[in-house]
Amino acid sequence: MALNKKRVFLATAVVAFLILSLIGASSFLNNKPAEKAEILPLIPEPTIKYGVEIDSFNVVEGTIGKNQFLADILLPHNISYPEIDKLARKATDVFDVRKLRVKKKYTILTSRDSLQKAKYFIYDPGPFFYVVYDLQDTMSVTKIERPIDNVKKTGSGVIYTSLWDAIIQNGMPIEIAVAMEDIFGWSVDFYQVRKGDRFKLIYDEQFIEGESVGVAGVSGALFNHNSAEYYGYYFEIPDVNKDGYYFDENARPMKKAFLKSPVKYSRISSPFNRRRFHPILKRVKPHLGTDYAAPRGTPIYSVAAGTVTKASRTRGNGKYVKVKHDRIYSTQYLHMSGFAKGIRAGVHVKQGQVIGYVGSTGLATGPHVCFRFWKNGRQVNHRSLKLPPPEPMAKKYIPQFEVLRDSVKIELDAVAYLSEDEIRALYPDEDIESIPTDSLLAEEHDCDVVP
Ligand SMILES: [Zn+2]
Repeated sequence: MALNKKRVFLATAVVAFLILSLIGASSFLNNKPAEKAEILPLIPEPTIKYGVEIDSFNVVEGTIGKNQFLADILLPHNISYPEIDKLARKATDVFDVRKLRVKKKYTILTSRDSLQKAKYFIYDPGPFFYVVYDLQDTMSVTKIERPIDNVKKTGSGVIYTSLWDAIIQNGMPIEIAVAMEDIFGWSVDFYQVRKGDRFKLIYDEQFIEGESVGVAGVSGALFNHNSAEYYGYYFEIPDVNKDGYYFDENARPMKKAFLKSPVKYSRISSPFNRRRFHPILKRVKPHLGTDYAAPRGTPIYSVAAGTVTKASRTRGNGKYVKVKHDRIYSTQYLHMSGFAKGIRAGVHVKQGQVIGYVGSTGLATGPHVCFRFWKNGRQVNHRSLKLPPPEPMAKKYIPQFEVLRDSVKIELDAVAYLSEDEIRALYPDEDIESIPTDSLLAEEHDCDVVP
């Protein structure tokens, strides 16, 4: 019995202990959820859009229609003409309401009371900024710039169809094409790139809320054209190189006196050829210019700064412009459809300035510009012309440049090109080996010149 009693006592004690500890544990376990329940907000987090708590408004979204003015948009939301007028005046210094553009997004927040009156009009042309027109009380207009993240990136491409295509296929933003033009437009016959040409870049890509919005700059680039390597390095010299910030490995500016071609995105339809056999005349008739075929209306640039000596028309040349650059060099552009505004004899033009547009006036069988390069009164092939290189930057900046150049070069050299297999995967339908490298030189144009 005594034993039994002891057992019962023990059992009771154990059970009691277990119960107590369970209560303890469960109350301990219960504590946290109970606390959690307490901190759960009864009112959900406010929805903030454009810096406004929008939950207490009706949200109306739309896009600016053709010929639609702010009044057309706001009058239906119970804003009066005098109020719109007041808002328009307040907006002039911040973001003029006349700058609202068709197809751009807007949001209107209206009161939920019976008045249904617009309280905010938000113009969001995206992605860089939006404008909040606060229609309440005193009215105010605020332009908000969205923060931009700069992300350093590297990229490379091997050209199989076009430079453009190689940039896109390799996941780089299209602005890279413009950046490469700024770097190599003077050293590479950039618009005559060939299959197998390749390039590498180190650049800053800009993002807004995770979306790519552009390229902030290229710190270094390599272009391999016809197996020759061209490096370009971005370098700032305070108060000196405001226009050109790229230098080659010898600290010489990439920007030179002459652009490589007078039109962009063109192809050479007929090269300079002193012994050209004319297909129609059946005799040797020299072609003393380089024909760039491009769609009618394509802008033609002066390849260097100078003075227009002729903006005229002859039977053979059609409409043409001749520019004198210095005592030695002049250039001439034939078969234009028209001159650019203000282009006439005696006018000064800058390098890269539009002087006219591609056409087929004169003796031309299709739209192209026949580009003539004159040296000491004689026509020469500008593509084989060796012009003196520009002077290097001032000596005192060179040590600093060389440090930068060497570190950027190491980074560039570490960037890999896609392998043959990876390129094949990008161009599954293309027999990449069969693209003839000289397919750019197929077409003939009749082309005559009268100086
Ligand atoms: Zn020609």
